[in-house]
Amino acid sequence: MLSNFTIRNNKIVLKNDGEYFGALKDFEYPIGDKLYEFAIMDFEDFEKLRDYYTQLIDLVCTSKECGSQDKQMDFYFVMFQYVKEILKFSPYTHFYTQTLIDIIIKTYNSGVYRTDLLFKYKIPVFIENPKYYQDERFEEISEDEYVVETCLYNWIQKIDKVSKKQHKEYIEFFYTIRDLLIDNFMEKKSDLKRRLELISEYSNNSLVRNLSVEDRIYLYEAKRVFDLYYVNTKPSHSVFLDTKFTSKYIYDTELSIQEKRLDVEDILKIMKEKTIKVEEVFEIDNPEDQIRFEIFKVIQNNFTINKCENCGRLFIPATTSNNPYQKGRNDQKYCNNLYKDTGKTCKEIGALNKRKEKVENSTILQEYNREYKRMHGLHYNHPKDFKEKEFKEWSKKARELRDTYNDEKIEEFKIKLKELSALYWQK
Ligand SMILES: [Zn+2]
Repeated sequence: MLSNFTIRNNKIVLKNDGEYFGALKDFEYPIGDKLYEFAIMDFEDFEKLRDYYTQLIDLVCTSKECGSQDKQMDFYFVMFQYVKEILKFSPYTHFYTQTLIDIIIKTYNSGVYRTDLLFKYKIPVFIENPKYYQDERFEEISEDEYVVETCLYNWIQKIDKVSKKQHKEYIEFFYTIRDLLIDNFMEKKSDLKRRLELISEYSNNSLVRNLSVEDRIYLYEAKRVFDLYYVNTKPSHSVFLDTKFTSKYIYDTELSIQEKRLDVEDILKIMKEKTIKVEEVFEIDNPEDQIRFEIFKVIQNNFTINKCENCGRLFIPATTSNNPYQKGRNDQKYCNNLYKDTGKTCKEIGALNKRKEKVENSTILQEYNREYKRMHGLHYNHPKDFKEKEFKEWSKKARELRDTYNDEKIEEFKIKLKELSALYWQK
């Protein structure tokens, strides 16, 4: 089950035209961001995915059992909406969702529990229930290459009426598959978290940052961040990385045979008219490689991953410049996530703490705050003698004083501040 991925404007683009029940259109996500989001997912997120998959199972089963091609066509397009929603939830669900849908469809079409597809689609899970062991007849059969037409053909393929008992058994099987897929997805998450923690450690080390791209990739491989293949090439001692990511060039529109016979200038003109776009894409066929591919890009581009000083989560610092290669190159200490039930983000909490720290360390600010509290108290208790307008005037001038003095001139500041206050309150 191959999918094409490419890089465009610092984003990963999953190029899909509905193949294997995947997204109908290209799906883009920024390099790194979704990856760290995935690494910090919790129990509730996985339950959300379980809900999505339960609804999806319900949709596909309803479609298969409804017996009307018109209705099935409607369900077909609703399915793509679900797929898109789930991709938005996390792009790393891509291969899992495709596998789930295909298993449901082919189980209905063949009347056999199609667990063989899990292995064919490289989802390594352990099936406990012997009832669901893979059927030998299907082990050797290779699956059709799926384009949007073949998907549809399988989707609307006629089946015998499904009894209530049979329906119940199918649902039980699909739920088992759903849970196996989610378990595997969760395993990927833990594994990814470990890798990102390593990257976080290394990416903030200036020695590592200054390595050439090649040396850096070699180092990360040596520390098993990717776990790609090292190949020892004999007879030389060199070790090289086999990145496994096969690249190829694809185009969206083709030239006709007549057009190809034309002169170069004319062909160029037609290419421009037809806006033929050629793209380098990478072939990926399983969720593990989808994640590895992105980690590879993170390291190649020298992105930093920071650990939030407030909540301890990993995050990629926001880009401060439009240059993609500058991404993550700053020392942002706090992430943008909401912190517990404070309603504030770690960044906001960080800013508050910083101000508090500053006040604690500055005698001028301490003095100013003390006087501010005293004057505010007087205004509050004697609103007629010390009016709002006067208090505001006082505080504006007090702020100006505060900003013109520094901690070395604290005694002078104290005198000036007292003098100012005396102008507004003389009792
Ligand atoms: Zn945080």
